Amino acid sequence: MLIIIIILGLLSLIVWVGVTYLGGRNGPVFAFIKDPYAHQDWITPSGLQCQNAPFIIPSGGYIGYLYEDVFKLTGKHTGIDIFGGVGAGEMPVYAPYDGFITREEGWKSSLILRIPQDPLQPDRQIWVYMTHMADRYGNGLIDQLFPAGAKDVPVKQGQILGFQGDFSGNPKRPVGVHLHLSIVKDDGTGHYMNETILANTLDPSPYFGMNLNAKTAVSGPVRCLLSVGID
Ligand SMILES: [Zn+2]
Repeated sequence: MLIIIIILGLLSLIVWVGVTYLGGRNGPVFAFIKDPYAHQDWITPSGLQCQNAPFIIPSGGYIGYLYEDVFKLTGKHTGIDIFGGVGAGEMPVYAPYDGFITREEGWKSSLILRIPQDPLQPDRQIWVYMTHMADRYGNGLIDQLFPAGAKDVPVKQGQILGFQGDFSGNPKRPVGVHLHLSIVKDDGTGHYMNETILANTLDPSPYFGMNLNAKTAVSGPVRCLLSVGID
């Protein structure tokens, strides 16, 4: 009896790993990267603003990975990944909302947008972290308005920030060309928190007016909802 329970347990573990870690959204992402022209109907255009949503879609492409997606056994995805389906440096990235851009010294591919008043909860400041804006060799694809060390440069919604890239830190193993975006909490003293920790980030769904949460999103490309509740 015990042996059967152990075997059943192992089988369900294998299925769980297969669905969440190996499967899930990986299949469509790989299919899109391999042949974007065959999947043009999966693309969300840059600049799209869903009804009642404060943010615009900052860059065009297939929104392949969602908030809380599991593709590492150690943690959940803290944002969304938009795959342009083009080469590095070809798909523009625009500011999703009005705010102030900072690029820390040493940031090759990343920017962070400070939004002093969260449009959904005006008593707090939030941040929008965007990365992978460099080519595989680490050459920045960020607009010259934002050199390394730039601090609090004002931008308007829709202003160009840079381009999607494939930088991973290892030139031999670049990632698929995409933009990663996460919405990051403020620590209460005017600084952003560590965006790699899920608890420090916010579900982007209500900001974009789409269901971008892996736990509840339907399969297939994400589309505008008419309206979504605020957490
Ligand atoms: Zn990502």
